[in-house]
Formats: sequence, structure tokens, C-alpha cells
Amino acid sequence: MRIVRAKALGFCFGVRRAIDMVEEAADERGHIDSLGSIVHNPVVVDGLVEKGVQVVGGLDDVASGTVAVTAHGRGPEITREAKERGLDLIDATCPIVRKSQKAARSLCAEGFRLIIYGETDHPEVRGVLAWTEGKGTAILDPEAEIDIPRRKVALLAQTTKSEESFAKFVARFVGHNIGRINELRIVNTTCPETDERYHAARELAAECDLVIVVGGRNSANTRKLAQTCADTGVETHHIERAGEIKSRWLEGKDSVGVTAGASTPDQSIDEVVARLDKLGEQLHAKGRRAGQRLQPGRVGA
Ligand code: SF4
Repeated sequence: MRIVRAKALGFCFGVRRAIDMVEEAADERGHIDSLGSIVHNPVVVDGLVEKGVQVVGGLDDVASGTVAVTAHGRGPEITREAKERGLDLIDATCPIVRKSQKAARSLCAEGFRLIIYGETDHPEVRGVLAWTEGKGTAILDPEAEIDIPRRKVALLAQTTKSEESFAKFVARFVGHNIGRINELRIVNTTCPETDERYHAARELAAECDLVIVVGGRNSANTRKLAQTCADTGVETHHIERAGEIKSRWLEGKDSVGVTAGASTPDQSIDEVVARLDKLGEQLHAKGRRAGQRLQPGRVGA
């Protein structure tokens, strides 16, 4: 059985950078608090807790005197409040998310009604919306009813949306609302790293009989990656840990693909590949033994 890794998979640069920043700070200070999970992956979160990075829900819960903003970013009020409370702030907002926040702020200042193609309850989207002072809305349905008071609209995307899906969203949004818009600004805030992973996942699905997608079940981009593979028609399983792989999934498979969301650590990917290797060997040995038991001229049905 051939095991193939996707050409692009696992941690993106924004997540690697955020983890390095909080690990370094925890190392220096002994203990820091993080506003929400650094990444949507339980393996990474558990590992960081061991290194002294505690996840908290809000500034009220910060006990260490140092608080980290994750790669998803936050609204400007967090920096202000942290300062007022005398807390040290480690800002690990991904530079690509930061660009999105800056675009949102300046477009709103220019009087645009800001629409983000994304999930309202995703931390990154909530953070970007917080920079719009109430002039932004997140929607997934391009035909959702929205008010456009000054006939000026700006469209942005959650960074983890694919370029292709953003393009479709824009086309349908414009088709639905063109009669109410005088000026339209589109800022492509999709992340190239995420898109690279979607392309690589499609390529992988095309050449394999089965695809294993590794990553947190609460990770939006890992779920989307799994859906992307499943949509090609290939058998796809989304798992968080290597131990979840079932031997029966591999029966009759010649090639198994492995990909992983942007929040999945290399260690989890390596463990999955090692387990696939082991299970593949076991199946092969079982097949060999079954073959040895057959008598010449008596191939059973
Ligand atoms: S997926 Fe892209 S935008 Fe999001 S943290 Fe990673 S590099 Fe940054």
C-alpha cells in the first residue's frame, strides 16, 4: 500500500509563528494566558498547556499578567483593555489576518458597508468585525438580505475561504444586489497558504483510493479540507489522532493519501503515516498468510 502526503499540508506560517511566540514568552515568564486556543487543535493545545500556556475565555480570567492574542486576531478593544489592566500583550495575530483587519477599518472609515464572506461566530471574523465599529456583517449566503444605506459596498473574505468559493460568492452577491450599489470594492483577503492546501488536497484525492484528513474537528479549515476531498468522490475520513484509523478502511486500497489542516502539527501527521504503514504491513501479512493456505487449482470464491 502506497502512502502519499499532500504537497502542502499542516501548519501554515501564521500558526507556526503564533506558537513560536507564545512558547518563547511562556519559556521566559514561566506562565502566560492565551485568549482562546492558539489553534483549533487539541493536540497542540495540550502540548502548550504543558509548556505553561493556559487558555482563558476573557481578560477577567488572566492570572499570569501576560496575555496572548492568537493568530486569529482580536478587535482593537483588547489592546486598549489589556493596557488599562496593566497586562503585557503578546500579539500573535497572523500578518495576513492583520491586513484584513486594516482593510476593514479603512474601508469603513471611507463609508463602505463591509460584508465579510465568512462564518459570524469564527474568531477571526469576529475580530475583523470588531474593527468596523458596527459597519460590518458576516454572511455565507450571497443573497442574504442586508441594508446598504450609502450604496457603497466592500467585500472581504474570511482568510480560510478558498479563492474559488470567494469568486462565486462575489458573482452571486453582485448579481443579487447590483441595483442597490453605486460603488463596489473587493479585497481578496483569502490566504494563499489555505488555497495551496485545497489544491494539493484535490490532487491527492485524484491519485488515491482513500484520503485521511488530520486535524481538530473544531478546525473550520480542516473540515473544509475534508469536504474538498469528499466532494471529489474519494473515500475520506477526518480524524484528530492516529489511533482513530480503522484497519478495515485500508482493505483493498492501493494508495492512501494524507493531508492536514493548517492547525495540525507535524507530529500528528507523522503518527498517522506511521500507523498507516503499520496497518498496511499487517494487512499485507494477513493477505500473504491467506494466500499460502490456498491449494493450487483450488482458488476459492
Ligand atoms: S491560514 Fe493563512 S491567514 Fe490563517 S493563520 Fe495561517 S497563514 Fe495566517
